[in-house]
Amino acid sequence: MPPTSPTPVNRDEAPLRAAVRPEPRAAVRESPRAAVRSEPRAAVRESPRVPLRERGDACPGALRLHAADDGRLARLRLPAGLLTLRQAEAPADAAERLGDGHLDLTSRGNVQLRGLDESCGAELAGLLHDAGLLPSETHERVRNIVASPLAGLDERPSADVQSWAAELDGLLCASARAAALSGRFLFALDDGRGDVAALGADVTLLARRDGSVVVRTGANRSGPRVAPEDAPRAALLAAETFLTLAEASGSGAWRVRELPAEDGRGLDAAVRAGLADAGIATEYVTEAPAQDIGPEREGEPPIPGPVRSPDGTVALSVHARLGRLSVAQWRLLAATANGPLRVTPWRGVIVPGVAPAAAGGVLDRLRTAGLITDPGSPWYGVGACTGRPGCAKALADVRSDATAAVSHAVAHAVSHGSGGLPVHWSGCARRCGHPRGRWVDVVATGEGRYDISVQGQGDLPSTTTTGPELADAVAAARMTPMTR
Ligand code: SF4
Repeated sequence: MPPTSPTPVNRDEAPLRAAVRPEPRAAVRESPRAAVRSEPRAAVRESPRVPLRERGDACPGALRLHAADDGRLARLRLPAGLLTLRQAEAPADAAERLGDGHLDLTSRGNVQLRGLDESCGAELAGLLHDAGLLPSETHERVRNIVASPLAGLDERPSADVQSWAAELDGLLCASARAAALSGRFLFALDDGRGDVAALGADVTLLARRDGSVVVRTGANRSGPRVAPEDAPRAALLAAETFLTLAEASGSGAWRVRELPAEDGRGLDAAVRAGLADAGIATEYVTEAPAQDIGPEREGEPPIPGPVRSPDGTVALSVHARLGRLSVAQWRLLAATANGPLRVTPWRGVIVPGVAPAAAGGVLDRLRTAGLITDPGSPWYGVGACTGRPGCAKALADVRSDATAAVSHAVAHAVSHGSGGLPVHWSGCARRCGHPRGRWVDVVATGEGRYDISVQGQGDLPSTTTTGPELADAVAAARMTPMTR
């Protein structure tokens, strides 16, 4: 995918409080309370129904370690993917001293450590606590906040979503109610470019050109818009409202999309009522896509390579091969940065503050160290789950098979599908960590056997065994035309 220039934002549009001024077509002025009266207390059902889930989620955290086949696994939540350079040393230290020497980047911009010893919990918690990465023991698993990784670092006028993330994180940790959220509940704070807004979050804050912010829940493209200073509070309120509905429905839902249909529809109205009760002025927007891009570009990750920043420095966008970094690679990134690292939900890292004259040489060093630094890399767009030997459910060693497929293409100088659809290799049908949108699904069905299909295509999968044919079939699938 070639890098593209963002559409400039109209700076003449009225700022912040214009959020409550009517828009000709998209906005429908109404009283939030009136909206609730017309979409009644049906929002909160009294009679419990058959629960969708009987138990809480088992998502790992920094304190709740998951027992995997390769040892314990810890997941460190990093709101907006942000780590100061001092903080960045803590997970590296932990991976080196307590784990397998690697850091996995997740599809929510978090970091996972694997191969941990069963008895390392207290030491790991101490390391993270000292680094300020464990601000709340009761809320550590619910701090799932992604934010547009390039906000403020490229030349696109941008909302300060990193500040929103910090404020929302503080509000979440201070809310006793929010501790009941599932470890899978996700907030997305999008600066208007439509990147993280496409990640299927439960609550999305989407900045608009006029400076206002739309609060979307679940798959809704509509929602109340608020002033940016109210946005973090509105996001927390939306999450707490979801909890109320989930509990009242008796569904045990972890995510907004799991609410029974009528409760899901009622959530929007209940959020508007809650905002009004909290004194937050709103106006309802009936269709709120990202405004600066077409739908075909929603969800695009930062392209690997240099990005010119407004302060005259260069930010470097790099991706990790199959989402995994060695401690040495992680430390090299931290040593290169001049400012907090930003881990992206596309298994990359943004390294800010590089001098323009040095950027080319630094990128060469990162490439030599095994990082993906340009979109022509054969590794770009290739993802894989843990597979064997780390996951007991895996039917194959998907990471080795994915590596062999890329290596085959490179060795034979044939197309590896670079520039085409993303591909995700899965060790079983759960497809952990798969991308969103259209992507090539390579899923193990047995030792050395894979089904290949294009998600969203509707075709039957083709079955291929490992070897050159598999590499060629995956590369061909990645070149499936975008419109078919
Ligand atoms: S997709 Fe299956 S094999 Fe891969 S990590 Fe998830 S459960 Fe394990």
